[in-house]
Amino acid sequence: MDTDNRDGAPAAPAKSPSRARKANRKPSVFEVAGKQFGRAADALGLDEHLRTILSQPKNELIVNFPVRMDDGTFQLFKGYRIQHSNIMGPYKGGMRYHPEVHLDEVKALAAWMTWKSALLEIPFGGAKGGIKFDPTRHSRGELERITRRFTHALGSNIGPEHDIPAPDMGTNSQTMVWMMDTFMNSGSRERKNAQRGVVTGKSVTSGGSRGRSKATGQGLVYMVQEWSEENAFNLDGARVSVQGFGKVGAAAAQILNRLGCILVAVQDHTGAIINPEGIHPKRLKEYIGRTGGVAGYPAGDAVDKETFFGAEVDIFIPAALEMQITAETAPLLKCRLVAEGANGPTDLEGERILAEKGIHVLPDILANAGGVTVSYFEWLQNRRAEQWTLEDVDTRLHRQMVRAYRTMRRLSNEHRISNRTAAYLHGLMRIQEVYRERGIFP
Ligand code: GLU
Repeated sequence: MDTDNRDGAPAAPAKSPSRARKANRKPSVFEVAGKQFGRAADALGLDEHLRTILSQPKNELIVNFPVRMDDGTFQLFKGYRIQHSNIMGPYKGGMRYHPEVHLDEVKALAAWMTWKSALLEIPFGGAKGGIKFDPTRHSRGELERITRRFTHALGSNIGPEHDIPAPDMGTNSQTMVWMMDTFMNSGSRERKNAQRGVVTGKSVTSGGSRGRSKATGQGLVYMVQEWSEENAFNLDGARVSVQGFGKVGAAAAQILNRLGCILVAVQDHTGAIINPEGIHPKRLKEYIGRTGGVAGYPAGDAVDKETFFGAEVDIFIPAALEMQITAETAPLLKCRLVAEGANGPTDLEGERILAEKGIHVLPDILANAGGVTVSYFEWLQNRRAEQWTLEDVDTRLHRQMVRAYRTMRRLSNEHRISNRTAAYLHGLMRIQEVYRERGIFP
């Protein structure tokens, strides 16, 4: 991706991705998201003005804020919060801490949150944010000060009825608790406890939901199970490869392992490993916890990127950064199913090649929607001052996701469209209905 396009260059409108092709460069992440949206808008015959409105986020907030480092120096950080849509409810979406965070990416991620919530029938809109920096290079104290100062800079742009952040890549329940605490202590005293729902993905002790930390992986497995049932595929003994072994990839691998699946290949930013006999997901997770990555894991052979993508498996789970399944990597894949744990892991060429090869896809806005779904449950529990059991959370998550899966499959069959377009279509139909009733203010 060229640097010019990373920060703030206007993205081509959803209808004309050809502009990108003409310029002879790879479409940006936001252009890919726009194209996916455009396909569903075409399939639906979405009202023209809605296509225009939804092709851009409603608000784009960028803050630069200083933080004191442990050595007494000050560093300036760039933070983002992109609010794509709040027509269905408060803006909702994660906060990413990563050196590659940039405006175009956050815009795409925010839009994907809108489609995800709409598909799952969760009363939230879509947003995303983050800070462009590498959290692994900072002490706990620095991370706390960065997070608190960022929350302060966002001020009233977030709130439990307005915009609700959550964890994403590079952030976790501790990050969310710092955000919550900063936000709660910045407002009026008598409203303090009502502000707990300003973020989700908190630790259970500080008001989080049981089952939230594994929710994205759990939801992904529910979708893989639905797919297996529909396709009379036996998960017991199925071979799996996973890209990215963080919160999503590791949880999915562990749950699948309990269902009898064999984890044979794993890749992350440090390297890739293969072991046809099976990699123990829990042990690998512990190893990564100690060393920071899969590289050097003793119970597996180190392999290059091509060998990793070419591993013979049944299910491939991308659970890392976006735009990983491309013209270069898609031809290598030897699997029956791609279950997208990451947001936007497949670019347009990758998508075309997967379809050509007859590889099924469980698209991101469905496959990784377990996270935001349990975030919604957490927000409800905060509002009602309740704490649900893990069983209750999992049962509700399962019901909500299976319903979305079946709707997607029905629309895919009825309209002869891909799972991805069908998933968008359901959300878009709901959004269009609301817009038609409410109209455009004033
Ligand atoms: N960051 C997660 C996602 O991309 C979770 C968002 C949320 O819980 O709000 O879906």
